[in-house]
Amino acid sequence: MTEQSPTPNYASRLPEPRVARSIADTADHHLEIEEVTKTFGRRGPGGGGVNEVLKGINLHVARGGTTAIVGPSGSGKTTLLRLIAGFESPDSGRIELDGETVAGDAWVPAHRRNIGYVAQDGALFPHLSVGQNIAFGLDGGRLGGKYRGRKAIATRVEELLEMVALDGSYAKRRPHELSGGQQQRIALARAMAREPEVMLLDEPFSALDAGLRVATRRAVAKVLAKAGVTTILVTHDQAEALSFADQVAVMRGGKLAQIGNPFVVYTRPADRATAEFLGDAVILDAWLEGSLAMCSLGPIPVRHPTTQGHVQIMLRPEQIRIASEGTIHGTVLDWDYFGPESSVRIKLAERPYGQPLDPHIPGGGGEVITIRHWNAAMARRGMDLALKVIGEGVAFPVAE
Ligand code: ADP
Ligand code: MG
Repeated sequence: MTEQSPTPNYASRLPEPRVARSIADTADHHLEIEEVTKTFGRRGPGGGGVNEVLKGINLHVARGGTTAIVGPSGSGKTTLLRLIAGFESPDSGRIELDGETVAGDAWVPAHRRNIGYVAQDGALFPHLSVGQNIAFGLDGGRLGGKYRGRKAIATRVEELLEMVALDGSYAKRRPHELSGGQQQRIALARAMAREPEVMLLDEPFSALDAGLRVATRRAVAKVLAKAGVTTILVTHDQAEALSFADQVAVMRGGKLAQIGNPFVVYTRPADRATAEFLGDAVILDAWLEGSLAMCSLGPIPVRHPTTQGHVQIMLRPEQIRIASEGTIHGTVLDWDYFGPESSVRIKLAERPYGQPLDPHIPGGGGEVITIRHWNAAMARRGMDLALKVIGEGVAFPVAE
């Protein structure tokens, strides 16, 4: 069964954004993924439906870098990680690790790729103690390899526990005697045991509650950064991707819709669907001339516009501020209180410039936008507010 595509129809009518393979194309690439495709299901008579999950993935990951792959559930994130790890092989395309082809023209099996993998549920062995779980990572439980003998193994297990900020006494516990965050840290310790050069994390924090999620994410990021491990985190949580990684890749419709540093993908998304996936967005009809977009929030500067005329302008809600006075006005419709801030729905006033409407200028006011404000008292229903916009907008072409 194919899960429903999150891509709205209008996006498919727009030209595809050009996507660089990484943000630092001159960097020392640890991992290179070129035109990788993967389809599940059988073709031809008798075969069920085919599911084209990856339709040409290109991604470069710098050595020691942290990349987050973010996309909705079912978009193929786990499939991509499994291809990198060597648990699956691509239908076409190439994967290179350290300059060596591991999938494509050649094949290097999973156990020879020196890659650590933390699965979504941590997947600790419930019948083994924490120490045994970690020792399993040392050499598949065979008590051999680099760490020979009980004592060497116990010492190494203790080191690994310390690495994830748990003391040696945890070695004797069973997984069910640990909190969710502790289990995830043990899963990481087990994956770190073999000193992998690349760590793949498949939504490792998604089962944790909000506070623990942030703390565990920080702890894990610290361990990996200290060890200099090249890391790929897969998540459907935008905030997690933006805060964890130095490179964010947005997966949509079997491709990476945009790759960039977190600030760039959030503030200058390549298209509307990416903008809306990465956070709340205010999107208004506008008329772009040169680098100024006229819309119901006044003239908004746009950096490097790629089109002119009728566009949609995108602003992040935090760019729209309540002002003490000004020419742009709106009326509070309602709000949601979240404690530190409220999200306020505002109906923009008609004819914001106090001028007759130019038929060329779309957006004569009246649109409803949602902004955020820290002071809940500012948001009384029916209240008239002056608004101002901070910073630049992003213009998207309008599908005619
Ligand atoms: P995500 O991790 O982004 O949620 P997945 O990579 O797990 O997405 O799955 C993407 C799609 O591929 C889904 O439609 C899923 O059902 C399908 N899929 C994944 N693995 C297999 C498999 N081994 N056989 C058939 N279909 C699969
Ligand atoms: Mg998944």
